[in-house]
Amino acid sequence: MVKVIVTGAAGRMGKRIISLISGTEGIEIAGAVEQKGHILTGTDVGEYLGLGKTGVVIDDDLLKCIEKGDVVIDFTHHDVVLDHLRIAAENNKAMVIGTTGLTAEETELLQEVAKETRCVMAPNMSVGVNIMFKVLDDVAGILGEDYDVEIIEAHHNLKKDAPSGTAVKMAQIIADRLGRDLDKCGVYGRKGMIGERTKNEIGIQTVRAGDIVGEHTVIFGGIGERLEFTHRAHSRDNFAKGAIRAAKWIVNQSNGFYDMQDVLGLRES
Ligand code: NAD
Repeated sequence: MVKVIVTGAAGRMGKRIISLISGTEGIEIAGAVEQKGHILTGTDVGEYLGLGKTGVVIDDDLLKCIEKGDVVIDFTHHDVVLDHLRIAAENNKAMVIGTTGLTAEETELLQEVAKETRCVMAPNMSVGVNIMFKVLDDVAGILGEDYDVEIIEAHHNLKKDAPSGTAVKMAQIIADRLGRDLDKCGVYGRKGMIGERTKNEIGIQTVRAGDIVGEHTVIFGGIGERLEFTHRAHSRDNFAKGAIRAAKWIVNQSNGFYDMQDVLGLRES
């Protein structure tokens, strides 16, 4: 039985992960963590979520319950992920990170610490999106330089970071395949007399509205035709299920930094 600690337990993702774990074989909830002084501290997490009493109370510090789990699933905020990973690594626990919006510096530090334990990190845990990552890599390789690449992402009005980590990852995959530096070719929104589109740019546009769970469209625009690839998330459950699958997988791996391509066996050797 894989024992899971969920950080960000009262968040939109944390709640779905804990609820879905309760109906999944081979995995159980062992800890639930919220931020310091959270109003739900001390509350039974199962009772809070209408799942019945679990005996697992919400703690306000990962250190208080780290011993109880095999793996930590983190959907919190970019500025706390590194502390959580350090605690997991120091206690020889695995980690699944879904949190997005990390700065380049935070990501670099995180990758260093991740080497000391087993860690899966992915800006999007859905199976469909991860298949789309692979398709985009192939398509960019086939189409080459002749098609303009534009990415449009849409999310709910409560999302804090922009553009989405998924959109950035899509842009990175395409830039890498085309031999471009995303720091130089990424264009985030456009306004005013900007002139003609440069051949190499990869446009990334952000939409925030209502309760959109998450949509990503990548356009490869050529002369006389265009290809569009779209993924639409209908609920958060696809991300939560992916995170649970990653948690069951990572506990049996050797130390290292992995992503969902590894979990799903999509990486080419
Ligand atoms: P949310 O704001 O609803 O939840 C975040 C939770 O983390 C809150 O309950 C908050 O109190 C808690 N938190 C903050 N600091 C904490 C700390 N120090 N310890 C413990 N808990 C703490 O946000 P959300 O919609 O659940 O998203 C969380 C993150 O996951 C975001 O970065 C989002 O972009 C990302 N996300 C990733 C995927 C994916 O598939 N990888 C999918 C959806 C969301």
